[in-house]
Amino acid sequence: MSESEHAVQFYDREASVVDSLTDFVGAGLMTDEACLIIAPKGHRDALEERLRAVGFDLETAHASGRYQAYDAADTLSSVLVDGAPDPERFAEVVGGLLARLDAGRRVRIFGEMVSLLLTGGRSDATIALEELWNGLQAAQPFRLLCAYPIHLLGGSALAHPIAQVCARHSRVVPAGSYPRHGAVDEQLRAIVALQQQASSLQAAVDDLSRLHEMSARLSSRLDVESVLREVLASAMAMHDAGRGLLSLCDPERPGLVLGVHAGFDEGFFKEVERVPSGGGGCGTCYEERRRIVIEDVETDPIFAPYREAARRAGFRACHSTPLVTQRGDIIGVLSVHFPLPHRPSEREIRLMDLYTRIAADAIENARLHRRLQQELDDRRQSLAREHMARAEAESANRMKDEFLATVSHELRTPLNAILGWAHILRSGRPDEATMARGAEVIERNAHTQAQLIEDILDVSRVSTGSLRLHVGPVDLASVITTATESVRFAAEAKGVELTVLLDEAARHLSGDAGRLQQIVWNLLTNAIKFTDAGGRVEVQLTRVEGHAQIRVTDTGEGIAPEFLPFVFDRFRRADSTITRAHGGLGLGLAIVRHLVELHEGTVHAESPGEGYGSTFVIRLPMVDAAGEAQRPHPDVPAAATPALQGVQVLLVDDDQDALDMLSLLLATAGASVRTAASAAEALALLRWIRPDVLVSDLAMPDQDGYSLIRSLRVIERESGRETPAVALTAYVRVQDRARAAAAGFNTFVKKPVNPEELIGVIAGVAATRGATIGRVLRERPDPRRD
Ligand code: ADP
Repeated sequence: MSESEHAVQFYDREASVVDSLTDFVGAGLMTDEACLIIAPKGHRDALEERLRAVGFDLETAHASGRYQAYDAADTLSSVLVDGAPDPERFAEVVGGLLARLDAGRRVRIFGEMVSLLLTGGRSDATIALEELWNGLQAAQPFRLLCAYPIHLLGGSALAHPIAQVCARHSRVVPAGSYPRHGAVDEQLRAIVALQQQASSLQAAVDDLSRLHEMSARLSSRLDVESVLREVLASAMAMHDAGRGLLSLCDPERPGLVLGVHAGFDEGFFKEVERVPSGGGGCGTCYEERRRIVIEDVETDPIFAPYREAARRAGFRACHSTPLVTQRGDIIGVLSVHFPLPHRPSEREIRLMDLYTRIAADAIENARLHRRLQQELDDRRQSLAREHMARAEAESANRMKDEFLATVSHELRTPLNAILGWAHILRSGRPDEATMARGAEVIERNAHTQAQLIEDILDVSRVSTGSLRLHVGPVDLASVITTATESVRFAAEAKGVELTVLLDEAARHLSGDAGRLQQIVWNLLTNAIKFTDAGGRVEVQLTRVEGHAQIRVTDTGEGIAPEFLPFVFDRFRRADSTITRAHGGLGLGLAIVRHLVELHEGTVHAESPGEGYGSTFVIRLPMVDAAGEAQRPHPDVPAAATPALQGVQVLLVDDDQDALDMLSLLLATAGASVRTAASAAEALALLRWIRPDVLVSDLAMPDQDGYSLIRSLRVIERESGRETPAVALTAYVRVQDRARAAAAGFNTFVKKPVNPEELIGVIAGVAATRGATIGRVLRERPDPRRD
């Protein structure tokens, strides 16, 4: 090697460049020359390890200015201006480094800045830097060795730059091991050209096999997430890039959402989780549907908004390529990031285009697969739902058929008795006892029928959600007493003992007196129905945990454990055969449960098993201790008989027969009754009397019941008094009830009137009277009263 030489070493393996470097620097140090190394850290570390291993004291050499080593990338960036080497900077920076060497010695320099530029795709800048070295060498002699990795410089586009690089060196060393000494310089240069071609071919083969492997891997993946990861990993491997992002089009607004990422920490990917259209490299690539190359994030204005983030994340260049499907739709953007400024080679660009084309189709396929899978699942589910719905409908239909058979049977049984007795009474001359018996049987069976019809109507109201409560203060004790009294006869007739236990502390709550009575009545009739002669039925009212608890226990036939969970279901009966022992529609308990729930209470059934009796337990919330409803009502004894003792009732009906019948009924129950045949007559009477309860028909000529109650409420507004009012009507629809309530009635009893119900309701509203009046008076004192 002469005193001033500019040699270039091509290498195909890392080990071979370290060999050449060690030989070059080792020879220099042995001959007392000063060495300057500008190389990547890996090469510097390997060099120093080898030199130390053979006994060189690098610390001393460094201190005496005979050995200086610098990082190639750092030095290069201080030499570049706008990506190209700047002669002034070069002179300043390299001159500065040379000045630190011992001035009296010959100098050897090993440099890899040019190689960084060429592998970064900057062939113009590479040649320019080589020229600057040559220029410097013309001014001062030194031996300079450059090294290029030939295996990274494949591709026809680089054949010319490599030839130019060679032209700028006085000596060229090809890669690989073969006898270099003795070979003619031209031959060596030809070998380098051939090596570059071989490297190009090898690179093309590698690219093809990578592409093939990627598409093979992609075709075996069907879930979108893993396809995205595969695409990103392959693109990064192809570029030898440490970082990358794959963003997908935001389905909600123009822009991108992050799909997968690699090599970034949380700080950066938070920045790119959503990228607006036109934002940075990815956003611009998405907006313009074309590749965007940011060779240097520090200088490219497109990247200005993300520059700070790029610095923090540690990358200098980034290439974004749109993912466009075969149909021409853009579905996302694939970006790779480089630690140094980087211009993609022709090969990189071509490959990236191929990668993104394959990737876009693979992503589309995976999405399609996911959609189809989803549709298949949906279809399976809806089929399963359909099956279930059909099974339910069929079961409901079967139950309905059974129910209709039961209904007709249940309605016909009392009808037979009615028709039979009607026939007996009309034909011949029945004696008085027969007449009485016939009337009793007809009445009882008509009641049974009316009850069946009422239950069916209630169930249909439950189904349509139109069953409403008429809530007011209720004395549960009297509700239970009335219900018990109405079944006592049936119990006695059957030989079943009926006991009632009432706790004063649980008497008063807020609810619908009529409906509560219906609940108790239902449980009691079941208990008596399912208990044989000699058995016992007990109804007990207690206060438990702030609730009123009603327990109806019987010693009857009990309920099988497998039927117990269904006992409150509609149309459910333990025995649904036509030959069953007991009548009934299987509706009573369903109605009970619904009514209890409307009262915000609970009901459950217990039974140790068939033959061991049953217990039904209802719990109803009570108003707190300070509440009105809990105050004792001394004027209504728990089991007051007759029920209307001391209650003054004004009865209004235009039908004289009805008036006579009802007034007899109420008088028998202990009430003092005044009657009026029209609304006008009632209003006239009300000037002189103050009844405890007003009971009025609704449909009346001239002035109807609504008008009567409205007039009364207007008159009463003055005094603050409000007479409890019961409407009598054959209209039982919800809207009729609502209209009656809106006009001013407190409750209503349907026609034809059930005497027990009417008495119960009148007793109920009369019991509230003291409390209502008391409350009204407290709010608005009336000096004329009392
Ligand atoms: P119904 O009594 O009209 O059949 P319910 O809804 O009142 O309808 O009762 C449903 C079923 O629950 C009855 O058919 C019977 O099998 C069972 N059940 C109800 N109460 C009792 C009871 N106290 N003892 C035994 N079984 C009962």
